[in-house]
Amino acid sequence: MDVPFFDLGAVNARYADELKAAAARVIDSGWYILGEELAAFEREFAAYCGAAHAVGVGNGMDALTLILRAYRSLGALAEGDEVIVPGNTFIASLLAVSESGLVPVPVEPDPATFNIDPVRVEEAIGPRTRAIMAVHLYGQLADMPALAAIARQHGLLLIEDAAQAHGAAWDGRKAGSLGDAAGFSFFPAKNLGALGDGGAVVTGDAALAERVAALRNYGSRVKYEHPLCGVNSRLDEMQAAMLRVKLRHLDEEIARRREVARRYRQGIDHARIALPGVADEDRHAWHLFVVRCPQRDALQRHLRAHGIHSQVHYPVPPHRQPAYAGLKHGPLPLTERLHGDVLSLPMGPALSDEAVARVIVACQSFGAAP
Ligand SMILES: *Cc1c(COP(=O)(O)O)cnc(C)c1O
Repeated sequence: MDVPFFDLGAVNARYADELKAAAARVIDSGWYILGEELAAFEREFAAYCGAAHAVGVGNGMDALTLILRAYRSLGALAEGDEVIVPGNTFIASLLAVSESGLVPVPVEPDPATFNIDPVRVEEAIGPRTRAIMAVHLYGQLADMPALAAIARQHGLLLIEDAAQAHGAAWDGRKAGSLGDAAGFSFFPAKNLGALGDGGAVVTGDAALAERVAALRNYGSRVKYEHPLCGVNSRLDEMQAAMLRVKLRHLDEEIARRREVARRYRQGIDHARIALPGVADEDRHAWHLFVVRCPQRDALQRHLRAHGIHSQVHYPVPPHRQPAYAGLKHGPLPLTERLHGDVLSLPMGPALSDEAVARVIVACQSFGAAP
């Protein structure tokens, strides 16, 4: 039997009874948008993150976009302001910036952790820079204390793209509580996944939370009163109910991901396969286990021949996409090299010890005579 890259069906099957009971509760309630399930999930997720406020929205990209729009609406950002972003990230991080009338400025990562390099951030600060968007890539927290010090010194907003990092913690403080505001995604395959699209803005800033809550609902606080030009981007009652079930199991799932990562890091010892750097166990929620290999495509084919499915996150960096043909940026050689040599091994809470062992054996035999 093949080792799948990520078996979402197996993950959710473990909670099928709880999910079905929650779905039945929502169906029977007769209330499907902006109701008690959402209010309860927002309280529970804010508490989980150790932040004062969570506001459910339609998806992760909207969470980031609504943070930036809310800051614009509050006067903290203006059209054409620059937001420093990592060069190596999923394109949604940059799209949220562009979508908000702001300019993304991609900078290079620290190749050991794949996360934005604070030294490069400081170099990229110019007269129009107003914010830093840190992405906790693959589930590992960016160096938030260093970024917060830079943000404070230069009067910049610090925003977390926490779409991959639910539950990762820095000295006990979780993703979502480490900057001015954080955007989370509950896309089904994320560490905390709904059974459809979903997202949340998490923040300690009451004014920002209130503004996002209005903007997600046509810019309205009171029905048919519209002081703001908003959008329709809400987390519905059904997804909120599913997420309340999944949130109760998140910590045990992260514990299993950490155990899988520990086994990979102990078992894979190969001259041409570089393991991911981990500064501290708690800081990594292991959304993805990403190795680097100069013969990446050959490694992927080798694993596939052994029945093991892997993926590339991501094959083309945002600044090389046609969508960003007009983007101004400095040289990004590290970012480009990473996109050519990264490979994500199977990872997930439902991965068995036996499957992990097979992945390790297959990696170890890479390049050996058949
Ligand atoms: C998934 C993801 C997003 C977007 O979330 P959606 O819910 O799919 O819109 C943004 N940033 C990162 C880093 C992501 O992984």
